[in-house]
Amino acid sequence: MGAAHCSNSCYSKQDERRQEDVEDGIQSVASSIVEVHEILEFLQKVQLFKRLPEDDLPSLAPVCEVKEYLPGDVVIEQGDEGHELFVIRWGITSVQVNGQEVAQLKEGDYFGENALLRDEPRTATISAKAPLSTIILRRSKFDELGLREKLHFKTRKAIGGGFLETAAAKPPCNKTPAEREVMERALSNNSNLQGLVALDEAAINQLIDCAWQEDAKAGLNVISEGDINASFFYIVKSGKFDVLQTSSETGKEERVGHLKAGNSFGELALIYTAPRAATVRAVSDSELWVMDRSDFKKILADKNDKCKEYVAYLDKVQLLNQSLKPEEKEALAKSLTEMSFTEGELIFEQGEAGDSFYILVEGQVSVIKDGKEETRLTANTDTASHFGERALLNNEPRAATIKVTSTLAKTLRLDRETFEWLLGSLEELQKLGSNRPVAVMNPSASLLRKASMLRSASHLGTLGGDRETESIGPIERKDLKPVGMLGCGGFGSVELVEYQLTGETYALKAMSKGFIVQCGMKQSVLTEKAVQMMCNSLFIIRLYETYNSDQTLYFLLEAALGGELYATYNKKGFFGKENFARFYTAGVVMAFEHLHGKKILYRDLKPENLLLDEKGNVKLTDMGLAKVCIGKAFTACGTPDYFAPQLIASTGHNIAVDWWTLGIFAFELLSGHPPFESSYPMQTYQKIMRGINKVAFPPKCKGSAEDLIKSLCKSEPSERLPMKKGGTRNLKTHPFYKGFDWNAFETMRMPAPYQPSVTSKRDLSNFTQAKEMPPSIAYEDDHSNWDKDFATSS
Ligand code: ATP
Ligand code: MG
Repeated sequence: MGAAHCSNSCYSKQDERRQEDVEDGIQSVASSIVEVHEILEFLQKVQLFKRLPEDDLPSLAPVCEVKEYLPGDVVIEQGDEGHELFVIRWGITSVQVNGQEVAQLKEGDYFGENALLRDEPRTATISAKAPLSTIILRRSKFDELGLREKLHFKTRKAIGGGFLETAAAKPPCNKTPAEREVMERALSNNSNLQGLVALDEAAINQLIDCAWQEDAKAGLNVISEGDINASFFYIVKSGKFDVLQTSSETGKEERVGHLKAGNSFGELALIYTAPRAATVRAVSDSELWVMDRSDFKKILADKNDKCKEYVAYLDKVQLLNQSLKPEEKEALAKSLTEMSFTEGELIFEQGEAGDSFYILVEGQVSVIKDGKEETRLTANTDTASHFGERALLNNEPRAATIKVTSTLAKTLRLDRETFEWLLGSLEELQKLGSNRPVAVMNPSASLLRKASMLRSASHLGTLGGDRETESIGPIERKDLKPVGMLGCGGFGSVELVEYQLTGETYALKAMSKGFIVQCGMKQSVLTEKAVQMMCNSLFIIRLYETYNSDQTLYFLLEAALGGELYATYNKKGFFGKENFARFYTAGVVMAFEHLHGKKILYRDLKPENLLLDEKGNVKLTDMGLAKVCIGKAFTACGTPDYFAPQLIASTGHNIAVDWWTLGIFAFELLSGHPPFESSYPMQTYQKIMRGINKVAFPPKCKGSAEDLIKSLCKSEPSERLPMKKGGTRNLKTHPFYKGFDWNAFETMRMPAPYQPSVTSKRDLSNFTQAKEMPPSIAYEDDHSNWDKDFATSS
């Protein structure tokens, strides 16, 4: 840091004494000279301190220091590890990144906020442009006051879940060639859409075909900030509009932009359902063209639909062509998984038990028997080279080794388990001959049905579940006694309760039915329940019972009394600790292995969705976006920082999205922030589409960690490490986990790196109360019986 001298005669009187001190070589002065209330006023502007209880802020002012700089003095240097926050009292600074000035800061601006929480290299060099006075708060002081523990971290909200009955699309209108040209230009000039979705000319034309026209009288709000009913995108045909947003500071509506003919807005609604970020109001009588998300999605999905092409491949496989009906082949085609291999890799080996069948779609392989090459197969749409189809019948040993001889090879893969889930046994189908009925089942429906059967059987103790509680039979709500509040979620509160018959405690999550209906979450809540009931893993919060009362649905969950991982990381400053990251990511690997084994996509990994038990073991919770899925899902949902590129591009996604989120999670634990972080979701998406290789990895995230993250965050889903041959074994043997005892970990015999203090089954001390309570909205039964199968007990 540069030396600070002051010799400017324009300083106020108050500063004169300090000036002398500084000249005496004292670089900073106690804040008592500058009035504490003045410091407090500056501190109030810092975003981080808005997370503190209001009463605690004044305690910070007396421990701050004031420091002055002369023009040219460097305040902080890019790359240095900093431990203090600076707020500018007066003066101007230059912000330089790699020697280039990128911004200037002035009175009331602040920098170095993150340095209060974690070791992180400064991202810019900041120097005084004119005489400068700063208020400094050191991390050590902040910690001494115990304020880090008191920060309340707002959790990031998932989006895209739920199915609102939104306004329906209207029939298309006619457009002149000139109008089409305007629309085409509007679409390609919308910089938010560019780079996110690949819209070629054909797709743009199809989209224009679907658009209809609407009038907007002056004063009309076409879209309203916060509205969750958002599924349209608009192009201005004529007229003028204001873009308005509620200011976070004043709470008042402010104009942030305006729109005229040829401009477009509402593009986020094309990708997923999310509340509108701004209000758009017509200032004159205007005309708009409107496009609907479902049309948009359909166009993109059709463009990426390989089903026909894949059916054609399946037709070339004698074993399948003879025994299967067209509908069955179509179902299989939708369930094929793409896999990538590199030169020298073995797709399978002679003698090993076969469980999958492959079609080669790109590259070349060698077929090797007893060490001798028999032939080479090259991808070719006419012949559709395929191998291993007998594995669909039984697991007889592979008759040959298949080795990749091209730089890259791509295959489609189908495993016997998936086949049987979809169609039953191939052998049976063959026996039944061609007069049998079509065998296609709806896999999610049948899996969910199986799940609820499993649940009732486990009550009777017939399935021998692995938890003691399972033998105790249904737990009734009347036998649960409240102990205290654990927290609040988006839809209701979570309370710790004691089961009086055993003394065991549980978390009882209550969800307002009125609110569920208002948000269009009826189906999601039912799915959430069914999915969580299917799970039986040490690494996933167990769901024991569900109850249904007049106004409320309840989940009776395993209680995790060690607290939330997200809050723990923030309060204790665990970011950057590699052994911690290893332990917690390993927990996610186990949870995903379990879910994916049951064909469940999770889709909402983030530290907010992990809880710690009393020993510090980590457990995944919140199945709100989880989905049973064979093949691909198309609804974009999740948390923006964790969105995978194929969600944004709307091309359909499978379990590979979860492995992407694991990479983001590892990055966040190691560096304190997610890699594509941005102030606006649209910017985040642009960064995601540019890829992980454009991200600067901080020092804490180098070496094997960087390699692991990059191998999970591959843009191409089939190239992500666990999607390759070997599956999760590839992860577990990755150098990042070198020396990690997976056997001990899997059975929870490995001591956790952080041991929360939990004194009893009734200890609530690891939970801080959120300020805001979720809304409770009166529910009136609509007699549709949507919730009739929800409860497992009374
Ligand atoms: P949602 O996803 O429904 O919007 P949410 O994820 O924010 O909500 P919930 O799952 O409703 O939150 O949980 C709210 C809070 O309650 C959590 O942040 C956590 O502090 C606490 N909590 C939830 N489940 C448990 C549990 N099984 N054991 C202990 N505490 C829990
Ligand atoms: Mg949640």
